[in-house]
Amino acid sequence: MARRESLFVRLAVCLGLLLPGGCGGAPTAKASAVTGDAPAVHYSFVVDSELRTLSATVCPRDLQLARLRMTVPELATRVRRPRILRATGDVPLEFEEDAVAIASMTDGACIGYDVDLGPPTEGFWITHGDAHVLAAPDVWLLAPEPRPAGTLFTASFTLPPGIRAALPWPEDPRGYRVPTSAFTMRSAGAFGQFEREMLRVGGAELDVVALGGGFGERTPLVTQWMQKSASALAQLHDGVPVPRLMALLLPYPGSEVGFGMALRGGGPTVMILVGSSVTKEALDEDWVGVHELFHLSAPRFLPGDAWLSEGLATYYTDILRARAGLMDERSAWDDLVDGFRRGSRRGTGRTLRQESIDMHATHAYQRVYWAGAALSLLADVELRKRGVEGGLDGPIRELGRCCAKSEEAWSAEEFAAFVDEKTGQAVVRPLFERYLDRAEFPDTAEVLAALGVKGAGQEMTLAADAPQAGVRSAMMAPRAGSTRP
Ligand SMILES: [Zn+2]
Repeated sequence: MARRESLFVRLAVCLGLLLPGGCGGAPTAKASAVTGDAPAVHYSFVVDSELRTLSATVCPRDLQLARLRMTVPELATRVRRPRILRATGDVPLEFEEDAVAIASMTDGACIGYDVDLGPPTEGFWITHGDAHVLAAPDVWLLAPEPRPAGTLFTASFTLPPGIRAALPWPEDPRGYRVPTSAFTMRSAGAFGQFEREMLRVGGAELDVVALGGGFGERTPLVTQWMQKSASALAQLHDGVPVPRLMALLLPYPGSEVGFGMALRGGGPTVMILVGSSVTKEALDEDWVGVHELFHLSAPRFLPGDAWLSEGLATYYTDILRARAGLMDERSAWDDLVDGFRRGSRRGTGRTLRQESIDMHATHAYQRVYWAGAALSLLADVELRKRGVEGGLDGPIRELGRCCAKSEEAWSAEEFAAFVDEKTGQAVVRPLFERYLDRAEFPDTAEVLAALGVKGAGQEMTLAADAPQAGVRSAMMAPRAGSTRP
């Protein structure tokens, strides 16, 4: 439990460091089908042999650009020599705060800029390693403005011999198609020599990239771990509800799985620190893989509603691991009960709503994550008691299908209304209303007793004669008749 707790804190702190205000950026207009006459913007990138400089050429077609904007303003200092490229000589452009203004561009001209990939910054924006650089597109992909609906964005790369790009973008005859979410949400990417394997899980492609020399003889174990984690998720959704995912694995000195994060910009990505001497036991016990993948199968939620996005992911991590046989039923309940115990002790006295908004300042992650997980449990059990087969599973599955890829952020209120409407039960909205503006941790004692979950740790027992023992075992049982799309 101590290991899990410490990793949990590190995970949350990391997310807090890197994603102030959540996934960032307001959604732009939805793209419609691209026609032959649609405006287009093509990026050509050249990375130097030392992986220290990236040179960009941005060429619009049938589109007058007004600006190129840094999606992360504090990274603007890395951009050098913005200019209009003309046969008669380049015309320098100026940065105005976080954007390059393009006032005098003529049709057909392209814009150039260079990005310093040299010195590392805090967090994971840029990190140099053995024959690679972890360089998030947020650092080097300037967002064109305006972006009329239907504009086609593409990119190509000229890389040094032996160097490849790892990006979540779909491939395209010109190299890559750049999804508009790459301009509005945080993302991950890397250039370098690396181990790479494309897995197929639940109808989706899982692009597993291991940086920094990879895992050597441990590679098959690491690959199996990613495959099992994604399969656990696929069981819930009858497949993985996004067509393609990138798993960017960052080896670090150690034998365990470290923290991870889920990113949506440019395509679903999980980025996870994995010990370069990771053991089979550590991989078998890991929960980070399932947790981060779950986030990407759910809609994006408003940053202030982190208690819900993290609560659902935390709850389903144990549920899905038990259903997939990655842990036994008793251990899953023990993990949940232990989490509720920790969460109930780690608050700052704020209401859950306020605790969630302030958690990056107060570090009350345990309280926020586990209060959300407790509410997920209460909702799931109540729905099942009322005869809703599969409880929360059905609505979560529908949400994955409709909205896992959407740039729109959901609110907790919208989620509650959706679940209550789909199930025909007034369960989730009243539950959230009861607890969201209270400082008390959600009361799970009565529900756990009815399920027959007694005691904790070594003393924990699951009573077969409890009133809701059938509900309890159904929650953790493999999903019957689960099929792949
Ligand atoms: Zn999470």
